[in-house]
Amino acid sequence: MQDNTILIKNVLILNPNNFGNSPQDVLIKNDLIYEISDKIEEENVDKIIDGSEKLLLPGFINTHTHLSMTLFRGLADDLSLDEWLNDNIWPIEANLNEYYCYIGALLGAVELIKSGTTTFSDMYFYMEDVAKAVEKSGLRAALSYGMIDFGDEEKRKSEIETNLQLFKNCNNSADGRIKVFFGPHSPYTASEELLKEVRRLADENDIRIHIHVSETQKEINDSIDEKGMRPFEYLDSIGFLGPDVVCAHSVWLSDEEIEIIKKHDVKISHNPCSNMKLASGIAPISKLLENDICVGIGTDGASSNNNLDLIEELKTASLLQKVSTLDPKVLTSDEALAIGTINGARVLGLEDEIGSVEVGKKADLILIDTNCANMVPDSSNLTSNVIYSANGSNVDTTICNGQILMENKKLTTLDEQDIYKKAKEAIDELKKAI
Ligand SMILES: [Zn+2]
Repeated sequence: MQDNTILIKNVLILNPNNFGNSPQDVLIKNDLIYEISDKIEEENVDKIIDGSEKLLLPGFINTHTHLSMTLFRGLADDLSLDEWLNDNIWPIEANLNEYYCYIGALLGAVELIKSGTTTFSDMYFYMEDVAKAVEKSGLRAALSYGMIDFGDEEKRKSEIETNLQLFKNCNNSADGRIKVFFGPHSPYTASEELLKEVRRLADENDIRIHIHVSETQKEINDSIDEKGMRPFEYLDSIGFLGPDVVCAHSVWLSDEEIEIIKKHDVKISHNPCSNMKLASGIAPISKLLENDICVGIGTDGASSNNNLDLIEELKTASLLQKVSTLDPKVLTSDEALAIGTINGARVLGLEDEIGSVEVGKKADLILIDTNCANMVPDSSNLTSNVIYSANGSNVDTTICNGQILMENKKLTTLDEQDIYKKAKEAIDELKKAI
């Protein structure tokens, strides 16, 4: 097979914790970053992109979302997690099907590509249809099925079987862009038996785990009432935790729980906008970082955010830590950039493949346009400019696995107008059904 090559000329590279101040040429060969140097010859290159007045970054990594929930954007705002979930989200989710989840995932994929995210970690239903959207869009994803058994044995068996089927059918599919994780929803919706079985199967098959833990104060109080322990203490006591476990939210943590997280090298996905919008609380991220705990960023679903813009999420994360600790020096823009890229890759166990602009890594790259009002002047601190000044709409070009998914803000793999139309029809139908 003929090599496919893309040469990005004369571009400033912004890597987590390290950026060069002289423009470079970057050669992509097939799915990989093949060469980075001052000057690369243009002969025999399939495609040349002018990188002047642009910044080249690793694609952002969204470590916790529910992509199909973009359909529920703005559906139920200004409510507590309990009311939002029990009275609004769960009733409408009861009418979801393969098609709706596929369309919702495509809508989410459009938004991810346009705002510079190249990898997302998803937990939801009809995940084989989400996988089809990943395949079509060209994105990279870690997919898990959200398992809920509420202690019912039959349900437990079928839920685990559904996640295992997803693994068998989709792991390493879409040219290796899809990894499948286990997705027990949370310690309050998944029984101890389910969690233990997931742990056993994860060890046996080398499958990572994605779970919501310690999102609200109510969850902590219920856990203490029912189990006599806080959620991370409980998960530790049943042998569930390990370096392959990604915990979303982790807002309410005691010092002992932070020790437990550190001891097991558990990965944390921070979701500040969702936590603020549902008034769940403020996760102690600066404390976790002080303890060298690996933290990535997530948007959560668009219905509790209400968008998937990871640059906006990183800015929010940084500001939230500053105001909650009354210390402007915590969660710096450098730390935020790392959380959105290389740390996100570590959270998903993909740090050898993605998360930085380096020769040998996958060509998951974005170009941010610096020649626009909110990016000028850009001479002082490039990282601060991206984290504090930019937003997703400054992203000009998105490349994943060496394939251009958007160039000059135009999508190449998805027909966005057609997807918008179908998404609007889908939510109208779903609303009628409840
Ligand atoms: Zn979530």
